[in-house]
Amino acid sequence: MLAGLDRWRELPVKQQPAWPDAEALQAVTKNLAAQPPLVFAGEADTLRERLAGATRGEAFLLQGGDCAETFGDLTADNIRDKIKTILQMAVVLTYGASMPIIKMGRMAGQYAKPRSADTETRDGVTLPAYRGDIINGHAFTEEDRRPDPERLLRAYRNSAATLNLIRAFTGGGFADLRLVQEWNRGFMENPAYAQYDAFAAEIDRAIRFMEAAGADFDALRTVEFFSSHEGLLLDYERPLTRIDSRTGLAYDCSAHFLWVGERTRDLDGAHVDYFSRVRNPIGVKLGPTATGEDAIALMDALNPDGEPGRLTFITRMGAEKIRDRLPDLVEQVTADGRPVVWVCDPMHGNGFTSSNGYKTRRFSDVIDEVRGFFEVHRSLGTVPGGLHVELTGDDVTEVLGGSEQIDDHSLATRYQTLVDPRLNHQQSLEMAFQVAEMLRN
Ligand code: PEP
Ligand code: MN
Repeated sequence: MLAGLDRWRELPVKQQPAWPDAEALQAVTKNLAAQPPLVFAGEADTLRERLAGATRGEAFLLQGGDCAETFGDLTADNIRDKIKTILQMAVVLTYGASMPIIKMGRMAGQYAKPRSADTETRDGVTLPAYRGDIINGHAFTEEDRRPDPERLLRAYRNSAATLNLIRAFTGGGFADLRLVQEWNRGFMENPAYAQYDAFAAEIDRAIRFMEAAGADFDALRTVEFFSSHEGLLLDYERPLTRIDSRTGLAYDCSAHFLWVGERTRDLDGAHVDYFSRVRNPIGVKLGPTATGEDAIALMDALNPDGEPGRLTFITRMGAEKIRDRLPDLVEQVTADGRPVVWVCDPMHGNGFTSSNGYKTRRFSDVIDEVRGFFEVHRSLGTVPGGLHVELTGDDVTEVLGGSEQIDDHSLATRYQTLVDPRLNHQQSLEMAFQVAEMLRN
């Protein structure tokens, strides 16, 4: 088992930095291996059970957070506002879906990024590409861009601090349903969102009814909240993988849920091999070039026995392609019979560069991809299991559109992401209302 956990080192491995100092890296990974785990294996098991419900249409996953967390953004306000946004969305979705929403952050470890090129050139100067704060700095200087293994330890400590605050917020009364509903009322005060009035009023009535009927609000003061990130940097994941004392099995204790990205899902590559050997629930991103055969082969590798909740396919086709590309995948996987959770990532297939040079997405494309996702599953009689979004609790201007009508020009006002554009707080809530309607129909 332990030997198997190092098999990836002999396989082709994509998207890893060229560490300048192998000894320094080794010292760090040794240190990491001696640190306490961030999550408990039993929590990952609970999540797997919740996701098993999502394969059967008994629960719906909401996974959201930054494209890339950064060390600079590790503040209480930033974490609180992201959790708040996810909780607010979850209440709306719960009502629309009439089923429990599994809440998961792209948080507490979402620090490593795959890049389309290893280097970046500006004005004739070529430096290593920015690969996320766990590897190097974003500033275009030699010093910042040099991969620094000490950053793995910082990422670990920051993830621990983030997770600690998440646990405090979601267990300590901040997630109280009545409080969340109060925030949603605040959102609805903006006349721009009048189209959601009727829906919001229904939710309000439902909560008042629960209160009047004597629902146990003590039980509704806390929520389950899971952590997740792309399992990309194997020098981080490996030392945080631990053998569970209860079962003797390996769990990647850096997060509850890890996913393999679109660029690293090669069947004979290091990432698929690595995550085949840990017990956490695992996701794989599937872009427009993924075939049914790829999907089946990924199931053979990652979930050969078809355990419900073990494997999630996160499709990210793009609004233009989803109605064309998704049916074949879903049909072949369904014919195979082993269950998967089908999750829609309406972000990563819809990127483009605005006329004034910002990497952006259109809110309308994002919504259209989700609509296409539901249409395909409805027509095939299969289960749409969740939503994967890049969002922030802040008032940024990174995604075009929404009722506040962010245009090319306004992108410049508060464009803060270092990597991909995120829905802002308002756009996230608008999305929740629109998806809730889709779930209900
Ligand atoms: C991401 O989720 O930020 C990402 C890089 O996605 P993908 O692997 O789907 O491109
Ligand atoms: Mn991204």
